Amino acid sequence: MTTLIYQNFIHGAFVANKSKETFPVINPATDEVMYHVEVADEYIQRQAIGSAQQGFAQWSAMTPVERSRILNKAVYLLRERNDELAKIEVLDTGKPIQEADCVDIQTGADVIEYFAGLAPTQMGAQQPVGDDFFYTRKEPLGICAGIGAWNYPLQIACWKSGPALAAGNALIFKPSEETPLGAIKLAEIFIEAGMPAGVFNVVQGAANVGQWLTTHPEIEKVSFTGEVGTGKKVMQSAASNLKEVTMELGGKSPLIVFDDADITEAVSAAMLGNFYTQGEICTNCTRVYVHKDIYQAFLTELKTRTEQNIIAGDPLDPKVNLGALISKQHQKLVLDYIEQGKNEGAKLLTGGHALTPESAPNGYFVAPTIFVDCTDDMTIVKEEIFGPVMSVLVFEDEDEVIARANDTELGLGAGVFSLNIQRAHRVIHQLKAGICWINSYGNSPAEMPVGGYQQSGIGRENGVETLNSYTQTKSVYVGMSKIESPF
Ligand code: NDP
Repeated sequence: MTTLIYQNFIHGAFVANKSKETFPVINPATDEVMYHVEVADEYIQRQAIGSAQQGFAQWSAMTPVERSRILNKAVYLLRERNDELAKIEVLDTGKPIQEADCVDIQTGADVIEYFAGLAPTQMGAQQPVGDDFFYTRKEPLGICAGIGAWNYPLQIACWKSGPALAAGNALIFKPSEETPLGAIKLAEIFIEAGMPAGVFNVVQGAANVGQWLTTHPEIEKVSFTGEVGTGKKVMQSAASNLKEVTMELGGKSPLIVFDDADITEAVSAAMLGNFYTQGEICTNCTRVYVHKDIYQAFLTELKTRTEQNIIAGDPLDPKVNLGALISKQHQKLVLDYIEQGKNEGAKLLTGGHALTPESAPNGYFVAPTIFVDCTDDMTIVKEEIFGPVMSVLVFEDEDEVIARANDTELGLGAGVFSLNIQRAHRVIHQLKAGICWINSYGNSPAEMPVGGYQQSGIGRENGVETLNSYTQTKSVYVGMSKIESPF
């Protein structure tokens, strides 16, 4: 059997590296190597920059409407190939096809479409100053870099390329080593849609390739999605030539369920916010605070629905709604957290172990796990686990729960369930988090800016402000009268 090897995608084509170095990509649901990918060595890195310079020159000279037309063609192709692309995401990530089929590609395409629509609306301003005047131009930054995590590979590539390219920049994207294929497919689609070569290049590899991107003097901005610790390293290297940065980092988000909440709705939110994508979502509400008066009722429904409605197994089976974790190593990390939870005195309501479903016996599955009677000082309550592990805590009063919810250095998401609208808004306004939901959890439309407070991030993705963050303002002062000079 010949080994399938993917090369780096540079200047509209696959380009072979010189070092011949490759890495394997494993299907998390089967523990089998599916294909290999060539590492972006120094040769590829040089090609990527040279190509992006050419791509940028051509792309930034086009009108926003021309760029928008090409981006919209790519959106059409993404939607047309939804099923094929969704399957690629399932094989790379281990997530269920029932999710990838209707979320990953669609929400990626939505964001490119949104920014394609916004691109032609970008305008500078003009203002008189006496007889003179000045005007401003919104200019692209140049070559930007995108570095992605492994949980939503194609969607992250779309979320970063949409605004960057709409604003007229070129983007060099590095997907996670664990999920390299989605970004390549997007690159092929952009070329097919008529985008000039070099506008979107994909380089492959691990941390050292990411580091190269974050230190290269020709790169003006880095948009990073990943862990807090890696984000700090990226910012440090980006400081070498004062690159702009956007940081989409981890979270340990609270969901607060008041005594007047619709319990069934709140349970749905807690389950979605802990078990969707087998818990590998940055905004997950892994700290669920429930008011003491509804605590037992909430737990009863949560346990029943978790034990009856979750089906783990081959992620390509449309009935399966809990997939495999990304790697064996990550599965171990999640199981270690579970052990730590038990050791520190949290009580298991359900789960707490690995799973070996009949249809995917070698996959890296962890049972949906719920700890109850948790206290704020437990490790499982404080640290991001990034797996299907929920901690439930009891509270009695509003001020108390706000203080406890805010007792973290992170600040990505937060949710409140209450039918008292004044209380819901009052509480949300006091939570230190960038992405908040009232009587809902997890929705993230292209129009809504998303990003973290505190150590969960810097800058935003999606929404109008993100387009601006991929531009720089040039002010042009025009003298209409004679210069007054003392010389
Ligand atoms: P990592 O931080 O491990 O990796 C993210 C990316 O950075 C990968 O492409 C990785 O390469 C690369 N990388 C690793 N080290 C460096 C470095 N020193 N310099 C530059 N790039 C580097 O995150 P994960 O992939 O493990 O993703 C999970 C994390 O992402 C969680 O914390 C989650 O909360 C967060 N996340 C945040 C989101 C948000 O929008 N706020 C959305 C999704 C996830 P490689 O993997 O190939 O080593």
